[in-house]
Amino acid sequence: MIEKILIANRGEIALRVIKTCKILGIKSVAVYSDEDVNSLHVKNATESYHIGEASPAQSYLNQDKIIEVALASGADALHPGYGFLSENADFTILCEKKKINFIGPSGKAMHLCGDKMKCKAVMEKANVPTVPGSSDLVKDVDDAVKIASKIGYPVLLKSVFGGGGRGIRLVNNDNELREAFEAATGESMAAFGKSALLVEKFLQKIRHIEFQIGRDSHGNAVHIFERECSIQRRNQKLIEMSPSPVVDQKIRDKIGELAIKAAIAVDYENLGTAEFLRIDDGSFYFIEINARLQVEHPVTELVSGLDLVKLQIDIANGEEIPFKQKDLVLNGCAIECRINAEDTFLDFAPSTGPVPDVKIPSGPGVRVDTYLYPGCSVSSFYDSLMAKLVTWGETFDESRRRMRTALNDFYIEGVETSIPLYKTILESKEFIEGKLSTDFLKRYKILDRLKDDLKKEILSKSDVALAAAVIHSEYLKSRVKSSPGQNIRWKAQMDRA
Ligand code: ADP
Ligand code: ADP
Ligand code: MG
Repeated sequence: MIEKILIANRGEIALRVIKTCKILGIKSVAVYSDEDVNSLHVKNATESYHIGEASPAQSYLNQDKIIEVALASGADALHPGYGFLSENADFTILCEKKKINFIGPSGKAMHLCGDKMKCKAVMEKANVPTVPGSSDLVKDVDDAVKIASKIGYPVLLKSVFGGGGRGIRLVNNDNELREAFEAATGESMAAFGKSALLVEKFLQKIRHIEFQIGRDSHGNAVHIFERECSIQRRNQKLIEMSPSPVVDQKIRDKIGELAIKAAIAVDYENLGTAEFLRIDDGSFYFIEINARLQVEHPVTELVSGLDLVKLQIDIANGEEIPFKQKDLVLNGCAIECRINAEDTFLDFAPSTGPVPDVKIPSGPGVRVDTYLYPGCSVSSFYDSLMAKLVTWGETFDESRRRMRTALNDFYIEGVETSIPLYKTILESKEFIEGKLSTDFLKRYKILDRLKDDLKKEILSKSDVALAAAVIHSEYLKSRVKSSPGQNIRWKAQMDRA
């Protein structure tokens, strides 16, 4: 039985895992970089160990160092969180070798899930529908052009190892494809030492709908409903919810069954997520399995009443999933907004620095997972997610109203945030009517509407408040302009990670 867990992560997800450890009476071991000396996960864990410099390669991605700390601290298990080493099959295998119970799937299953091409091939064999595209890695640029002309433009050029929305390029014709192919190959070579690209039909007006899946070592498999994650920027999720407005019980049963089939096809054990794209005619196409705890898992926790980190630990302990599919009831509606430190108007560039003050919202049906506290700071070395604001309501509308109120109550001083953007989205007619698609921001000119909303807000203020708002926004702009190096450095870190 697991007694002590090392958490190989930082930020809100490290805190989330520590919380369940405390509830279960399991000891937690935190690791931290130079940059995180004053971070909450370091204080909240039972024990904490410094593992290196701020750059992820020197700390949170340093496999040997993390294993060394796990062994020295006597941790019998390791939780990888998301990002960093969470989907690194080599690391999983290293844990297996060192007899550290890795809380997640086996290295073998992860290896399959981490390679979009191999995974697609397995799914096709298992009769899980995938997006039309190349049936193998594209050999060279001429091969890519041939495949593209067969499936028809526009197409996506995807790195099979991509993640977090990176490594995906949209191309509209042969010329664009030739150009993009060269750049993508270069990137792939730099990152992985080999080029591994696939071509896929670019589906339009689509929704991203994913299923939470769970499978134990006894062969029991369940799905814990869907999450709709269609509101995105740069192919990365911003707002997630469960249930999806276009999924009824019949569709849930049907696609849930497909998701379980996908998990079985790669011999997946523990919790994971099967991602699908849904086109307007209602058909679903599998895109990938995320072999880890998902950022947006709280949405599922709120509608199912489960603690998904506890379930992960139970499965890693070799226990059976303590319920059957028919026992699960989807209750109410949950919405999550990812509160990012970023400037919506600077193409979502990260906004970093000290956070002198914070006010965290609360109230009926409001949950906040965050590393923020007054006096903390947002580092330029790591990703921009500061908090996840999640609301539950008996209905979508109740959940939405609670979210809108909580967004108004959320105050974060010192950095730009995605909160104003979410206020505009939450009030938009299209969101209220459930007209969601992955190009939602562009399709409904949300940024223009946000500008109007901000103007209105400023005009409604008194002269003194107005002057203060203008000075503050000028100050923030000058900070961003004077520190381009930070953003570039951050980008380089992310690209390397
Ligand atoms: P999810 O489906 O869990 O929301 P995302 O694709 O948004 O998955 O990625 C989750 C998190 O994992 C991101 O916020 C980021 O921290 C991290 N992440 C994912 N892919 C990468 C990557 N290639 N490089 C660095 N971080 C990544
Ligand atoms: P990642 O590993 O970066 O998460 P995914 O394959 O899961 O990559 O795709 C991320 C997002 O990119 C999807 O949610 C969707 O918005 C978009 N996307 C992926 N594949 C397609 C496609 N074939 N057509 C249109 N959009 C796509
Ligand atoms: Mg994905």
